[in-house]
Amino acid sequence: MLSGRRTKLHFDDYTLEWFNITNGIGQGDPLSMILYIIYNSDLVRVAKGKHELMLAFVDDTAFLAIGKTFQETHEILWDMLERSRGGFEWSDQHNSCFAPSKFTLIDFTLNRLKECPPLVVRGDTINPNPTHKFLRVILNQELRWCEHTAYAISKGARYTMLLRCLTRTSQGVPTKLTHQLYQTVVIPCMLYAASVWLRPTYNLEFNTPLRGSIGTAKRIAQTQPTALLAITGAMRSSPSDSLEIHASLLPGPLLIQCTLYNFLIRISSLPIHHPLNPIVTHIVKWGSVKRHKSALHYLVQNLAVNPRTMETIHPRPDHPNSHTPFTTSIAGSKEEAVVDFHQCNNCTMIFTDGSSTNGKVGAAASLYIDFNHIATLRYHLGNDTEHTVFKAKAVGLILAMQLLLSRNEVTFPATIFADNQAVIRSGVHPTAKPGHYLLFRFRNLVRHLHERKDLDHMSINLNWIAGHADIEGNELADREAKLAALRSNMASPRRELPKLLRKRLPLSISAMKQANEDHLQKRWQEEWMASPRHPYINTLDPNQTTRSFMKLVGRLKKKHTAIYVQLRTGHIPLNKHLHQIKKSTSQSCLQCEGHHVETVHHLLFDCPRYARERHILRQKIGHNALSTSHLLSAKPAQQALFRFIDSTKCLHSTFGDIPIPQSSKD
Ligand SMILES: [Zn+2]
Repeated sequence: MLSGRRTKLHFDDYTLEWFNITNGIGQGDPLSMILYIIYNSDLVRVAKGKHELMLAFVDDTAFLAIGKTFQETHEILWDMLERSRGGFEWSDQHNSCFAPSKFTLIDFTLNRLKECPPLVVRGDTINPNPTHKFLRVILNQELRWCEHTAYAISKGARYTMLLRCLTRTSQGVPTKLTHQLYQTVVIPCMLYAASVWLRPTYNLEFNTPLRGSIGTAKRIAQTQPTALLAITGAMRSSPSDSLEIHASLLPGPLLIQCTLYNFLIRISSLPIHHPLNPIVTHIVKWGSVKRHKSALHYLVQNLAVNPRTMETIHPRPDHPNSHTPFTTSIAGSKEEAVVDFHQCNNCTMIFTDGSSTNGKVGAAASLYIDFNHIATLRYHLGNDTEHTVFKAKAVGLILAMQLLLSRNEVTFPATIFADNQAVIRSGVHPTAKPGHYLLFRFRNLVRHLHERKDLDHMSINLNWIAGHADIEGNELADREAKLAALRSNMASPRRELPKLLRKRLPLSISAMKQANEDHLQKRWQEEWMASPRHPYINTLDPNQTTRSFMKLVGRLKKKHTAIYVQLRTGHIPLNKHLHQIKKSTSQSCLQCEGHHVETVHHLLFDCPRYARERHILRQKIGHNALSTSHLLSAKPAQQALFRFIDSTKCLHSTFGDIPIPQSSKD
């Protein structure tokens, strides 16, 4: 029974009164998962020896037995359930009734002809099933994933159809939100547990396509056009590759590659006591196997990630009650920060910085005593595809501590200046995030200094200083960090550096993910450039990137995005296109007595019927009204363009009245 808990429900614009909850599990309560771990712990211990395994997640439990014949495995399973301290005994003692009639049995074998006898448990006969869904993944008898693939694709298609219900060509949820819903709801649902049932589509080391999951990738890609139509409001005849670029949605194979890469990066950063860590380490150490490769084998083999070089992220890196061993100060503005700096009375000041230059990352800390420069430490981290600037700024703090620990002339209290507020805030509350292990090291060094010099937490101040504010120490630290970034031989001698920095730092998972994303974007851009649609779209928007159109339509209504996309692709209800898709008998413009073909160009520049509207357009945006690329790609032309389209009434049958979008300055 629960007490002291209440909730209220909210539907659309109606909210119910608070009501008490007396029974059930606290929803969203992180404690419930910990309690389940304790509750299930005896059940997981049922498995003994190398032929038995147990899996338990909340209320889903699996008993696994390994043997040469199914008679043997069934005997093991029966024993696991019936033995003393076995499954049934746990169920009796833990008020969790096992009903054998609800058990599912699956016999894994590659030999379909192998006899699979039934298992009899407490009078109930359980016949083996060819497939079973466990933790939302469908396993089949041969451990192939065809059923799950079909299930995932149908789930993706169902969700995409639901998305389509939310939005129409001329009204509904705006493009930006539809895009967000697709990325955060539909794709994660469809690619749930993708690392188990999908293989990479490219070998990153040799940059070659792989055969493994390319068929699945294409089938997944087939669900994407519906989402593209929902997001952009384009006509159904529009080409997918062009819509993908407009909607900024990665094509199927690249999307799979991105999902799998991020998964491998995540499991590479697991701490040593995580159950997956020894498996990954074993695969990396002994290389791939010839037969019975697991999903992890394919990932490690093809994704050019060495988990042993990655940083480790500890889920519980520090005691929750540990206090911050230094004080911090972050001024409200740049000007206040400069005033604070000039009011600082401490003799010892250390300026720190981390910087990225020419694709390399470096960090530096400069010690000043009585405004005289005494010493500087520099550290070269490596490439910016492997290390982040955040990490370099954290290294700057560690270098500052090294100066305080190693120089005899320093006095306390001392102030360390950093020009990044995120690093200072994370230093106070470091969590299980990339790069935060360096901040824990910084805190430990501060504690070490306290012990050595018998200081208290007021003796070290970590203050924010505005960058580029003409403060000599800060400018020097900035120059030194850039110098350290440029060349590895400009770093300080190893003996002067703290122990942690005498060897290469582990690679940052944030930087690796970003580098992979950039690589995929580049690959996508190359594929797009080979498309027959590219030359025309390129004339409209020569600087087009995979994200530029979404930026252009950022806050616009659905109707506006749809008109933009239709004008840009040429797949628009004008007679030229309608004739092509056999929806019109003629491709001529009916507004000028059929002398001209009705194209987007004819509508915007030629049709004599719209001369008056065009004159108003030219008055608004001047000679830019003669440029297709300006009209269809420039934000300042938005209002004038939609006013023109609305006044011509040429798209009235599809879009009705077209409201004028608010100017981006409003
Ligand atoms: Zn005309």
